[in-house]
Amino acid sequence: MQPNSDSRQQEVIQLLKQVIEPTLKNDIVNLGMVRNLRIVDDYIYLRLYIGCHQHQLQAEIQSVLSSISWCKKNYIQICTIPGVKTTLAISSGKGGVGKSTTAVNIAAALKLQGAKVGLLDADVYGPNVPQMLGLGQADIQVIQTPTGEKFLPLEVQGIKLMSVGLLTEANRPLAWRGPVLHKIITQFLQDVEWGELDYLLIDLPPGTGDAQITIIQESPICGVILVTTPQQVVIADVRRNIYMFRQVGVPILGIIENMSYLICGDCGSHTPIFGSGGGELLAAELQAPLLGQIPIDSRICSGGDTGYPIAITDRTSLASKVFVQIAVALNATFSRCS
Ligand code: ADP
Repeated sequence: MQPNSDSRQQEVIQLLKQVIEPTLKNDIVNLGMVRNLRIVDDYIYLRLYIGCHQHQLQAEIQSVLSSISWCKKNYIQICTIPGVKTTLAISSGKGGVGKSTTAVNIAAALKLQGAKVGLLDADVYGPNVPQMLGLGQADIQVIQTPTGEKFLPLEVQGIKLMSVGLLTEANRPLAWRGPVLHKIITQFLQDVEWGELDYLLIDLPPGTGDAQITIIQESPICGVILVTTPQQVVIADVRRNIYMFRQVGVPILGIIENMSYLICGDCGSHTPIFGSGGGELLAAELQAPLLGQIPIDSRICSGGDTGYPIAITDRTSLASKVFVQIAVALNATFSRCS
């Protein structure tokens, strides 16, 4: 270790902060695109996590780093998913808050906005996304590509889909297969032939364990959307989740509060049966936007069970409008990626 390695690290970080991602109008350090920065002797090593349209950032980094007199050479390892522009993760502190439901409906709403969307169901503890899109057990094809064998995602309701649940026998839990879990997840990220996608949404397993950390560290996630319900106990878990993301340097795009209120079928009044204000408090505390508040609606549940997401089947419902509002907000941030 060089005696002045800390100051060198700071010098490099300050220079990297001069590199601005033009669509997101923020620097690449703040956006979590630079990870594993190491300075060994007079060499700089870093990993750059980018979408497939952002390769120009590498030249910009090389240009700013060229001003460092002590640096003999820099090594930039590019981490991207071929063909995929924007990768977003959907996360929750706890199971059962509606994370997968939200992921499926946001994917559907983005699709309705004209985006090319893929959904990676990495929730090893409950890979329900195929069922929520109306898909039973299906055979996954493996194809030969110039970069080796790849899984071909399925396409359902205009959304490309890959799920850990599709690789295993139906009804058999995956959670006990600890030793192979990381391998499966890493393989998913590397070995799926997505084709051209505007958005890849990753439905993460709930909580803050090894599986989540592996996925986050191995993938070019632009940001995380956190799903919560209004109860204080759930909020506490989400807060833990957020600290994990902050530690690995992945930005939080916003919070979605699910099951915010029940709409009375007779008078239309809203009853906050799980309490109110939790999502708002969390958003204020974390200075992250509250992207939407989704009501409790039996059609959301039946849509999930039967494979018809409410965002597609009942576009006039309030829930559907909230999913569209979220999709529009995401598009406003990311759609100028070209
Ligand atoms: P998670 O992915 O967080 O474990 P799911 O998305 O699987 O949660 O949702 C759990 C259950 O709650 C599912 O049966 C789903 O249909 C239902 N559900 C989720 N959100 C709502 C909602 N806003 N209104 C009614 N039911 C919902």
